[in-house]
Amino acid sequence: MQTFIDHARSFGRAADRGDELAALAQGQAPQALFITCSDSRVIPSLITGARPGELFELRTAGNIVPPYTPGHPSSEAATIEYAINVLGVRDIVVCGHSHCGAVGALVRGEDLTAVPAVRDWLRHATTDDTGLTGSADTADPAVERAVHHHVLTQVLRLRSYPCVQRHDVRLHGWYYEVHTGTVRAHRSDTDTFTAL
Ligand code: ZN
Repeated sequence: MQTFIDHARSFGRAADRGDELAALAQGQAPQALFITCSDSRVIPSLITGARPGELFELRTAGNIVPPYTPGHPSSEAATIEYAINVLGVRDIVVCGHSHCGAVGALVRGEDLTAVPAVRDWLRHATTDDTGLTGSADTADPAVERAVHHHVLTQVLRLRSYPCVQRHDVRLHGWYYEVHTGTVRAHRSDTDTFTAL
């Protein structure tokens, strides 16, 4: 932790950063909303090269987009709505990743009684017929096919959000390999994930 504190202490003082940060006082105009897992191995700005102000982020356990439920406020719905309606974002990336603990737990049907909040949150991912639980990927540590399926389920959820329906929003399904840095994108014409 100390290295983080030391870095944060000097962050704003770096001479080559002053002008870029000062301009951010005028506001933000992010080019995309990037929805991904909380996993520390997935760093959206590193993957995309986004600079401050360029990428709006939503990180959840297992990059789950909860079902849109009017009358039940959620941070996820608020973030998505703000990105589209206020910031004018028209591209949303849902990025799953290899070796995902959340998807792995679903696929392997792990006992999550010790982490009831995680268990209940992951139920959001299985309210639909996601086909994740007990799928054939159990032996695959990267749970690749399960993550692909999971990403597309979240993209479908996004389509049910009123703010997405009301605007011309482009939805992108990505898969990131934490051990190689490779990014694959879903191609709707072939229904496959291929390298960007
Ligand atoms: Zn994950």
